[in-house]
Amino acid sequence: MGLWSSIKKAAKKVWRAVKSVARVIVRIVITIINRLTLGLPDLLLGFLAWPPKRLRLHVVIVSVKSSNPDGGESLVPVVPEHDVEVVIENTKRIYKKLFNVNIRSYSKSFIEILPEEPPKEVLDFTCGIQSEFGIAGEYFANHLAGWNAIPISLTFPITVFVVRELLEGPSGCSMAVLGEYVVIDEQGLKEDKMIALPHEIGHTCGLWHSGTATNLMHNGPPADENVKWFQKNILRSSRHVQWW
Ligand SMILES: [Zn+2]
Repeated sequence: MGLWSSIKKAAKKVWRAVKSVARVIVRIVITIINRLTLGLPDLLLGFLAWPPKRLRLHVVIVSVKSSNPDGGESLVPVVPEHDVEVVIENTKRIYKKLFNVNIRSYSKSFIEILPEEPPKEVLDFTCGIQSEFGIAGEYFANHLAGWNAIPISLTFPITVFVVRELLEGPSGCSMAVLGEYVVIDEQGLKEDKMIALPHEIGHTCGLWHSGTATNLMHNGPPADENVKWFQKNILRSSRHVQWW
């Protein structure tokens, strides 16, 4: 590699990191402002779970190249659309039951299939803060619903990226309050009573792990459809959960 291209590569890396730090700061500021203004009634009284609120969700399924019998190539979604629909319906039911939050689609339909193969860092994703500051984080930022460097929607939708595989560790990943997105693979969508997606959305809305075995936020099985009163306060006062 020539000197010039090494310099360009290093500069790109720095610029990517600078942009992700800016993204994190914007989100922290918005989170604090929202909890102390629009979210304040629920921060105090969210355990009443009334009145109903809304959370906008957008699900992106990435595609992978697959070779055809005739020698050509076509793009196929990493998980069939119908399988993802089943998990979305289950997540809607759980959020209505536990939080009185109606999950709605951000655009006309919940699911968008990206007709391109993403970078390998996205296709087989490693969960961790280093990913948010690298190629995967940049890709997700560019494909978020409702964001264009700054939020363009006051509903603050959550985007779910369905990828081929999550390497090292669990099959669902969230950047907690720092991110607007959840990353999950097929195993994560389906295993353990389909609890991983509602669990990861919970992290994105500010919930941390619970020590109670059957709590929605328990780290792994037997996590189930239960939450404590203060978890309702935290989730319902998140910027992702709004009155409109
Ligand atoms: Zn977790």
